[in-house]
Amino acid sequence: MGGKILMLILDGVGDRPVEEYGGRTPLEAARTPRLDLLATRGETGLVDPIAPGVRAGSDTAHLALLGYDPYEYYTGRGPFEALGVGMDVKPGDIAFRCNFATVEDRGRELIVTDRRAGRITEGTAALAAAVNGVVIDGVKCLVKESTAHRAALILRGKGLGAVVTDVDPHADGAPVRLAAGGAGTANQKTAAVVNAFVHRSYEALRDHAVNRARVAAGERPANIILPRGGGLAPHIPPFTQRYGVRGAAVVEVGLIRGIARYCGLDVAALPPSVTGGLDSDLGALLGATLSALASHDFVLANIKGADVAGHDGDAAAKISFLEKADEALEGFVGKLPAGTHVAVLGDHSTPVAVQDHSGDAVPIVFYGPAVRPDETATFGERPCAKGGAGRLRGRDVLPILLNLAGWAEKFGA
Ligand code: ZN
Ligand code: ZN
Repeated sequence: MGGKILMLILDGVGDRPVEEYGGRTPLEAARTPRLDLLATRGETGLVDPIAPGVRAGSDTAHLALLGYDPYEYYTGRGPFEALGVGMDVKPGDIAFRCNFATVEDRGRELIVTDRRAGRITEGTAALAAAVNGVVIDGVKCLVKESTAHRAALILRGKGLGAVVTDVDPHADGAPVRLAAGGAGTANQKTAAVVNAFVHRSYEALRDHAVNRARVAAGERPANIILPRGGGLAPHIPPFTQRYGVRGAAVVEVGLIRGIARYCGLDVAALPPSVTGGLDSDLGALLGATLSALASHDFVLANIKGADVAGHDGDAAAKISFLEKADEALEGFVGKLPAGTHVAVLGDHSTPVAVQDHSGDAVPIVFYGPAVRPDETATFGERPCAKGGAGRLRGRDVLPILLNLAGWAEKFGA
């Protein structure tokens, strides 16, 4: 039996020098005395979430931080999109990301006139419900709406393959494509089901009440569902069995919550004030983190706001969010169960200049009774580069924490 472990992820915290702030990164420019105290008392370093220079998604980064090789377990966007919208994905499912789109029937072909159906924002739950659960050739088709024009599709049944081309033409004015399966009957079957499903979605949606109302209001109908990015839902060994620790996740956004659940972590319920945005109630999130630590050996907590500000390209917002996160940490470490080992780190960089994820390494600090403190006294990209933990990969972080907390088994005699 080991001690408790907390992995606190500041989503997208890493950044690049910003000229308006004297070439400092937003984290370096932010006033973060509580994180700096952790750096002073802990051991710092840099983490390449996947590998140096690889631009990690939040999904692949979190798989790696939970100790799962994303090159083995990340089997395409589809299954992870479905997890993100809260679908009950099962190993062996074939899952797709989808768009609600607008098509025009021109006799032999359906022409995509708007891949995003006029950026529809309302009514997609009813549209998804109109096709959810249809069975085609013994395969159950499960559909759930996501944000705006997005949705996810799961095909559940026997003898399905995951190698299938997109029906989405990825351009307006082009015809809906026919999905083509890769070699073998399983892939051919999937392609046939996808094509039949797309047709069924058009039949079910073209005269749907939601679309009649849209057309009457001069808006484009969301009259078809176009799947893409198909992938096989992977068999992921449950976290608790793999490491022998009871794990939980306290996470703001659906995608990471879905991944955590799929990896076998207990996912904490959070109040609506925890929004995943810059206005999120971090006190409630950290409170839920303490509760989860009371009943679990390992907790992954993810605070999303810095990533949001990075995507917005807003350095001032990123700085003030990081200051707010630091303030929320006042008194937090003192409330952790005695002997808890903590790592605070990013899951990837989201530089304000890039407005997307980059392949730059992220800072990390390890804190706890077994940690050997280094000379670094500031939590920032450059100070942490000089730290004792050196340069790590995302997959190294969990084993380091398991070792510090006394869970690691000896390799050899
Ligand atoms: Zn992220
Ligand atoms: Zn992001």
